[in-house]
Amino acid sequence: MPVDSLDQRSRQVVWHPCTQMRQLEDFPPLEVARAAGVWLYDRQGKRYLDSISSWWVNLFGHANPRIGAALCEQFATLDHVMLAGCTHEPVVELSERLCRLSGLDHAFYASDGASATEIALKMSFHAWRNLGRPEKAGFISLRQGYHGETIGALAVTDVAIFRDVYQPMLQQTRQVMSPDWRLAEDGETPEAYALRAAADLESCLQQHHATTAALIVEPLVQCAGGMAMYHPVWLARARALCDQYGVHLIADEIAVGFGRTGTLFAVEQADIRPDLMCLSKGITGGSLPLSAVLASDSIYQAFYADDVRLGFLHSHSYTGNPLACRAALAVLDIFDSEDVLAGNRERAERFDRLCQPLREHPLVRHFRRTGMIWAFDLAIGDRRVSRDIYRLGLERGVLLRPIGQTVYFMPPYVITDADMQFLVQTTLAILAAL
Ligand SMILES: *Cc1c(COP(=O)(O)O)cnc(C)c1O
Repeated sequence: MPVDSLDQRSRQVVWHPCTQMRQLEDFPPLEVARAAGVWLYDRQGKRYLDSISSWWVNLFGHANPRIGAALCEQFATLDHVMLAGCTHEPVVELSERLCRLSGLDHAFYASDGASATEIALKMSFHAWRNLGRPEKAGFISLRQGYHGETIGALAVTDVAIFRDVYQPMLQQTRQVMSPDWRLAEDGETPEAYALRAAADLESCLQQHHATTAALIVEPLVQCAGGMAMYHPVWLARARALCDQYGVHLIADEIAVGFGRTGTLFAVEQADIRPDLMCLSKGITGGSLPLSAVLASDSIYQAFYADDVRLGFLHSHSYTGNPLACRAALAVLDIFDSEDVLAGNRERAERFDRLCQPLREHPLVRHFRRTGMIWAFDLAIGDRRVSRDIYRLGLERGVLLRPIGQTVYFMPPYVITDADMQFLVQTTLAILAAL
C-alpha cells in the first residue's frame, strides 16, 4: 500500500508561494506539526528555531497565550461582521490606539501587506484627483524596494526576480537611488551616503513632482531587497522634499513596524510623520492576517463630500475582521505591559556580543544591525548558497532563509540568550560546512 507523506500530498495539491515547485523534489517542505515560543516542531518531534519569525510576522512566540486567550474570548463574542454599514468595539479601539501611536488620524483595513500597499497607492492617487490634480498620478520608489506582489504593489517593487516577467502588466514608475549604506564609497559615512542618495530623490522630484502622487519607501530597512539598512537622515530629507514638492510620503512599515527597528515605528527615528503608513505582518503577532493603512486627516478630508464617487469605495470581505483586530489589541497590550522596546534594546546589545564571532568571520561582509534585525553578506559567489544554508540549517535545528547572499536573523522578541547563542553557533557551523 502506498504511504503518502504529508510532503508528497502537499506537493500534489498545494501550490506553495515563492517556490519553483520542481525544486521541492530535492528540497521537500518542512512538515510542521506544531509550534510554541520560538520553536517549530516537525511530526517526529524534532524542533527548529524560527530565526526569521515565520517571514517576519511573529513577535511574541508561537501559540502566545495572551493572544490565544484574547482570540478565544473574541470568537465567543463576535467572530466577524462586515465593516460597511457596521462597526464593532475591536476595530474602533484598535483604530484609536494605532492613530494615537502613529500620530495619524484614520485607519483603513485589509488582510495582507500587498493590499495595504494597493490601498495607499489608490488613496494618494484618488486624493489628488479629488483635489483637482488628476495629473499627479505617478509614483516614485527606491531601488531594491519591496512593497508586495499584487499588480499595483509590484509596480513600485524593484526586485527583478519577482517583477521582470510581469513588467508588461505594470504601471510605469520611477526608482531613485537606495540609501543602503553598503553602496557608499570607501571612506563615505552612511550618513553622507544617505544625503547623496537624497540628492538623487531631489532631482527626480524637481523634474517630475507635477505628475507624481507619492513617494513610497520602507523606512530604515529594505527587508526583502536583502536587509539593506540606511541612515535616518534620508527619511528626514525625504519628508522635507515631499513637503517642498507637494508629494505624499507613504511609509511602508509592513515589515519594520511594531518594534523591529528598535522604535515602535521606524519613522520615529527620523522624527517624521508620513501622510500614509502601511502596517501588517507583526500587527497580530503572527496569529491572523491583518493589515492597516493609517492616513493623515488632510488625505481623509479630500474624500469627505456629498458625492459618493469622491469617497474611497475600496473594500475587502474581511476588512476590519474582529478576531484579527482583537489579536492586534493583545499585541499592543503586550507592548505596553512588558516594556518590550526597552527589553529589546538590552537584548540586542547582549546578542551583538554573541554575534561577535560572526562579525569577524572571514566569509562575512557588511555585518549590520538595526533594532532586532541582524544581517550579513557572504563572500561566496555561488548562487545556490542560500538553499545550502536553508538545508544545513534544518539538519541542525534552525530555520534560516537567506535572501541571495544575505543571511539574516529576525527572531521573535521572546528569544532567550541561550537560544540566540545556539543560533549563532549553528550559523558558524553552517559556514564551516559550506
Ligand atoms: C511583506 C511585505 C509586503 C507584502 O506583505 P504581504 O502580506 O506578503 O502581501 C509589503 N511591503 C513590505 C515592506 C513587506 O516586507
